[in-house]
Amino acid sequence: MEDDELIDAENFRAAFPELGSLAIRIVETSPQRGIVSHQFSLQEPPPRALECSHPECKGGVLNLWIMLRDLMDKKTTQQHLKLPCPGGHRQGRVQTMACTSTYDLSFEIVYK
Ligand SMILES: [Zn+2]
Repeated sequence: MEDDELIDAENFRAAFPELGSLAIRIVETSPQRGIVSHQFSLQEPPPRALECSHPECKGGVLNLWIMLRDLMDKKTTQQHLKLPCPGGHRQGRVQTMACTSTYDLSFEIVYK
C-alpha cells in the first residue's frame, strides 16, 4: 500500500467517524471500453474523487466523499443511483460532446 493511500484511509475514517460499516459498488459502463467495476469499504476506502476511465474524458469525476457525506447527512442506509458521466470529450477545437460512460452506484451504509 502506498503512503498516500494510508493517509487517505486515515482521513476517511476521520471524515466519517459515525461510519460502522460501508459497502460501495460502482459499475462504470462505457460503449468504447466495456465495464469497469470498483468496490470500496471501510477497510478499502473510496478515493475522494473517482475519475472516469475513458482516456479522452475531461471533467468526468465522481466526488465520492461528497456523495457519501450527503447520504449520511440524510441517514440513508441504502442507495442505488444511475448517473451519466459528468465529463465530456473534446471534439474539434472548441466543441465538446458528452461522455458516453454511465455509472451504476450502490451504497450500503451502517451507522455506529
Ligand atoms: Zn467520462
